[in-house]
Amino acid sequence: MLKKCGMLEKVGGPGAVRVCFGGGIYVAGRRASLAVDPSGWVSRRVDFALVTHAHSDHVTRDALSLPLVATRETAAAISVRFGRPPARVITVRVGDVIEIEGVHVAVLEAGHIPGSAMYLVEIDGVQLLFTGDFNTAGSILADAAEPVERPDALIMEATYGDPAYIFPNRAEVYSELMDLVEDRARNGGVAVIAYPLGKAQEVFRLLGPNVMTHSAISQYNRALGFHAGGRSNVVIVPGARHAPYGYFRVAVSGWYASEAVRREAARRGIHGIPLSDHSDFSGLVEFALRALPKRVYVAYGLRERFARYLRRLGLDASAAAGGTCVQLRG
Ligand SMILES: [Zn+2]
Repeated sequence: MLKKCGMLEKVGGPGAVRVCFGGGIYVAGRRASLAVDPSGWVSRRVDFALVTHAHSDHVTRDALSLPLVATRETAAAISVRFGRPPARVITVRVGDVIEIEGVHVAVLEAGHIPGSAMYLVEIDGVQLLFTGDFNTAGSILADAAEPVERPDALIMEATYGDPAYIFPNRAEVYSELMDLVEDRARNGGVAVIAYPLGKAQEVFRLLGPNVMTHSAISQYNRALGFHAGGRSNVVIVPGARHAPYGYFRVAVSGWYASEAVRREAARRGIHGIPLSDHSDFSGLVEFALRALPKRVYVAYGLRERFARYLRRLGLDASAAAGGTCVQLRG
């Protein structure tokens, strides 16, 4: 059963749910059970799954047989990734609040890649905020992720959950990339190395429709409505080995916020630019502090390290290791 609700207010009295981590996140309530980002062998029985976005660590082929809640863009990207569409998709968009099997789900902006979403879930009177991957900075493709206040639990990522990862202002990063590409393209070819889903579309939007894209990127561009135009000596490729011979190579990734990583790339002839579709360390901390949840579970990335930082700031935070289960109350 699926119906649209006007808002997400706490329904029912305080209850308890069981949340298990490993190969995705599994939530079992009294009447319904669900998976969030099933990303391994789906061993548990669930009524449906919420998919935050189509990166390979958030959805795997096994999940295609489940009824999936996803945005149109995420469903399209899943079809590209696995070569076939999911068996059943309940299509949602940011701002929707739906009810499935007695579970209320609000769809929130994640700011990560086209179509990415966070989900606020209310099941048996317990409110859980699942961030998937998220970006609090906003970009030319997506608005910034904003937390909801005081969920019973915040289940979050911490890919860059270390103070070494503070990203420069995004507008400055955009300028650096555009200036570098324009300058180098005057006297030769430029290959921009970017992850095919998410980062590649951001670079494509930034550099204009005349840039070329590798086929691994073109298939996502077509599915997501990023239409290529003419020909140029600037190409977006998924990896350094795909760069045409003799082209100047520039790569975009949050890891280049580290001086050491930039130097290492330079030794391999790659100019690294710290453009990320994740929150940096301060964005992650601010998000958790603004949400002020009863509990925080760090489910992705630098789990132990970031949970320790949050505990120092007074939050009840744990690293959610695979194979563990917790009982949560509303
Ligand atoms: Zn991701």
